[in-house]
Amino acid sequence: MSSQPALSGVTFAGAGPGSADMLTLGVFRALQQADVVIHDRLVGAEVLDMIPASATRVDAGKEGFGPSTPQSAINALIVGHAGTGARVVRLKGGDPGIFGRLDEEIEALEAAGIPFTILPGLTSATVAAAAIGQSLTKRGRNRGVRIVTGHDIDGFADQDWKGLARAGEVAAIYMGKKASRFLQGRLMMHGASPDTPVTLVENASRPDQRIVRATLCTLADHAAGLTGPAILLYGIAPRAAVQALTDLNEATA
Ligand code: SAH
Repeated sequence: MSSQPALSGVTFAGAGPGSADMLTLGVFRALQQADVVIHDRLVGAEVLDMIPASATRVDAGKEGFGPSTPQSAINALIVGHAGTGARVVRLKGGDPGIFGRLDEEIEALEAAGIPFTILPGLTSATVAAAAIGQSLTKRGRNRGVRIVTGHDIDGFADQDWKGLARAGEVAAIYMGKKASRFLQGRLMMHGASPDTPVTLVENASRPDQRIVRATLCTLADHAAGLTGPAILLYGIAPRAAVQALTDLNEATA
């Protein structure tokens, strides 16, 4: 039985990083009840396949650093559909509350007097950590984990690089591919060891998932070879069993 109230207004829902296995039952149910689903570019094909044929599907995709749909146009799209009384699901990759521009869309709904609900999703960081057989926090290693972005609307993001450069720190870096040379420079300038492990997980949870073991020193070269969405796990390396699997994939590729 569902503990979820019937949908009204707009439901912001997290699609997870791609695989249908990563979708929560709550989000699955919301999709089944939707009249309109407005989704991001990052929502995986398997999840898009779960949208019922009866629902109107709208692609509000945006490209980082490329041609993009302005946020104001997306806000207007959501408000427009919800204003007709339709049950709208706004489906976002990962968790809507992590680098998902959620607040901007909520503020547009608030201004229009439209109610909303948020259904969380699995964010790429936790899924990527699981894929490399690691934990994001570990007793005796790191007391906290940072979730940071490599670039934001102002360009490459400024962060507490000094804090992050200390031994044992762990960070999940979103949107870090293009910023990887910048990250490398900033962290090394603050004394981080060039041997600090950095693992790139591309297309986490998808059939084309790729795990690349790198260090701060080799990060930028490895990042240049990736084409899909990728998360950088700074400070942790794949466990041996996972690495053996990765080597095997590379040998047979
Ligand atoms: N809300 C999303 C993040 C959106 S920002 C979440 O919670 O995961 C976009 C960034 O998320 C990408 O640049 C990439 O760093 C990361 N990302 C999203 N999907 C991913 C995936 N399947 N595999 C690896 N990284 C992913």
